[in-house]
Amino acid sequence: MTSNEGGAPRRLRFEIFRYNPEDPGSNPQMQTYELDEAPYMSLFIALNQIRETLDPSLQFDFACRSAICGSCGMMVNGRPALGCRTLTSDLPDVIRLHPLPVFKLIGDLSVDTGTWFREMVEKSEAWIHAEEAFDPEAQEARMDDELAQAIYEGERCIECGCCVASCGVANVNEDFTGPAGLNRIARFMMDPRDKRSDADWFEVVSNADGVFGCLGMMACHDVCPKELPLLEVYAYLRRKTLAAAFAGKEE
Ligand code: SF4
Ligand code: SF4
Repeated sequence: MTSNEGGAPRRLRFEIFRYNPEDPGSNPQMQTYELDEAPYMSLFIALNQIRETLDPSLQFDFACRSAICGSCGMMVNGRPALGCRTLTSDLPDVIRLHPLPVFKLIGDLSVDTGTWFREMVEKSEAWIHAEEAFDPEAQEARMDDELAQAIYEGERCIECGCCVASCGVANVNEDFTGPAGLNRIARFMMDPRDKRSDADWFEVVSNADGVFGCLGMMACHDVCPKELPLLEVYAYLRRKTLAAAFAGKEE
C-alpha cells in the first residue's frame, strides 16, 4: 500500500535509525515499532506516541509543530521532510526514518543544524554591511515594495536543513555554501542597505564552493517545505556574479 487517504485503519510499521555517537557501546541500527494509525496523524504525533508508549529513549527534535521552528527535518522514506508537516496518510504502511545527512548527528533522528548554519553565516558574512554606524534615532530606511517582497521571500527560510540534506554537492563537499546559504547570500546581495560591492560579492560566491559549485538539478527546490524560489535565487546569483566578472575585465 502506498498511502491511506480516507482508507481503512492501518497498523503502521516504523523502521527508525538508532545510534548514539556519544556511547561507545552504541552501534548504528534500525529499530522497528508498530502503531495504529489515527486520523490526521503526523510524524510529530506518531513519534511522540512511540516515545510515550513504547520507547522513552528515542531521540528526535520538535518545537513548534507548525513548520516555523525548522527543528523536525528528517529523512522520510529517503526524502528530507518536516515531521510536523508530514501526514502518515500520505505514506505507505512501512515508514523508514533516518536523520538528515550533512549535519552532525546528536542521536537517532536528532541532528545539529545550528552549527552548520552558524558556520555558513560567518563564512559568507551574511549580515548587513552598512557604511554608517547604526543610529537608533534615525528614520526607518525606505525600500521599494517589490524589492522588500523579494527580500522577504528569502527571509522565509526556517533553516530546517532539508534542502542541504537533499543536495548531492553539500553531501560530498563540506565547504559548499549549500542551497540555504546561497539563498541567504542573495537576500543580503539584494538589500540596498548592504554596501558591499559586486566585486566583494564576487569573492564570496563565485567559486566552486559557491554558486558555481551548484549542479542545478534542483532537489533543494523540490524538498523545501516553505517553497522558497531557489531556482530564481541561483539565476539571480549567477547573473550578478557574471556581471561583476565582466565589469572587472572592462576596467
Ligand atoms: S540545485 Fe544546486 S544547491 Fe540545489 S540541490 Fe542541486 S546542487 Fe545542491
Ligand atoms: S531554503 Fe527551504 S529547505 Fe532550505 S533550510 Fe530554508 S526552509 Fe529549509
